[in-house]
Amino acid sequence: MGKRVVVLGAGFGGLELASTLAEEFAGDLEVVLIDRTEGFVFGYSKLDVMFGRTTAEQVLHRYADLAKPGVTFVHAEVTAIDARTKQVETTAGAFAGDYLVIALGADYEIGRTPGLAEVGHEFYSEAGAFALRDTIAGFDGGDVVIGITAGPFKCPPAPSETALLLDALLRERGIRDSSTISLVMPFPRPIPPSRDASTALLAAFVERGIAWHPETNVRSLDAEARVARLGDGSELPFDLYLGVPVHRVPAVVEASGLTVDGWVPVDPATLETPWPGVFAVGDCAAVGTPRAGVFAERQAATAARRIAARVRGDADGPTYDGRGVCYIEFGGDEVGMVEVSFFEGRPNGSMHGPSLDLAADKHEFGASRVRRWFDREWAPVD
Ligand SMILES: Cc1cc2nc3c(=O)[nH]c(=O)nc-3n(C[C@H](O)[C@H](O)[C@H](O)COP(=O)(O)OP(=O)(O)OC[C@H]3O[C@@H](n4cnc5c(N)ncnc54)[C@H](O)[C@@H]3O)c2cc1C
Repeated sequence: MGKRVVVLGAGFGGLELASTLAEEFAGDLEVVLIDRTEGFVFGYSKLDVMFGRTTAEQVLHRYADLAKPGVTFVHAEVTAIDARTKQVETTAGAFAGDYLVIALGADYEIGRTPGLAEVGHEFYSEAGAFALRDTIAGFDGGDVVIGITAGPFKCPPAPSETALLLDALLRERGIRDSSTISLVMPFPRPIPPSRDASTALLAAFVERGIAWHPETNVRSLDAEARVARLGDGSELPFDLYLGVPVHRVPAVVEASGLTVDGWVPVDPATLETPWPGVFAVGDCAAVGTPRAGVFAERQAATAARRIAARVRGDADGPTYDGRGVCYIEFGGDEVGMVEVSFFEGRPNGSMHGPSLDLAADKHEFGASRVRRWFDREWAPVD
């Protein structure tokens, strides 16, 4: 057919997009997949490494292992995007496509939380989470604050999971009694789109003595006094500060003039941007769903099927339904699961578990993606 799709970013969205197109066309469509890193890491694997459940090496899925028909992986930084011509500049040269998909995820602005870089730790980047493995292993008790400066942020359950996993680890090490854990979130409840999941998390916080500070944020960290200053005017002392940095689109997306109110605008049903033939999926796009891998993946599958339909000259293809399933770590190897839909009235996700069976489901969730995207087996946790 001679058509080419250029996919920017090989994360949850880009990998699913390339895999779906490879499956649909078995080599008859050229897909160029571009990423600046050497491999993919699931968001939740960052917590597994940080809490010493596995190693950084074991959670890295190398792009060198990709072998999909018609898919060429290019290890390069995207430096400019022209949505009108569907041409991009990269550190490995220029690429143009008949279709362009922007799946570059979200970057972080650590400097937007004064003091975070100096006296705190962010646990949202791979480098930040992996470095925390040694910091947490060497922590001998004290005040811990887990804080958010501003939304939107990836995987809304992740800060609650961090509090529960930390609680479990400090208990195991016999230093929970000499520690406090505070969780500061700009939401009225831990997972706004699910009352059930929020109720279960709040009960777990009470049971474990985790202090919950809703509807406020951490504005800054005072390096001298070692306190977190909150939006409501109060202060929390900390020995260890674990922060969610402020999120933004990658600089190249903004510099290329693709954003409105900070994110790439798309039609939520089709994931197409205002530029015909240019799609955006996942964390960089304004879709109306939370920023999480499960949503990026389903958006990518929809965009891929719509591109496939157009390449074949068929009708429009499917529309995106805004549904997703999220797993939540409760500590002690127990995992809960929330099923939620964002495009069918007010979202109110139903909660299952927590249970050990759901922990096995979560393992299979990751293993099945590695099988599908990289054609190999993976045992996520040692
Ligand atoms: C601690 C934590 C826990 C999480 N847990 C979960 C979970 O349990 N379930 C879940 O569904 N989600 C979870 N997430 C969220 C999930 O990781 C993201 O929402 C998801 O990866 C988004 O997919 P994406 O394809 O939009 O972006 P990403 O997966 O981030 O992929 C974007 C890709 O673009 C590349 N890139 C960026 N800029 C450039 C450039 N200029 N040039 C070249 N390449 C570039 C990046 O290297 C990256 O590979 C978690 C996140 C965190 C931080």
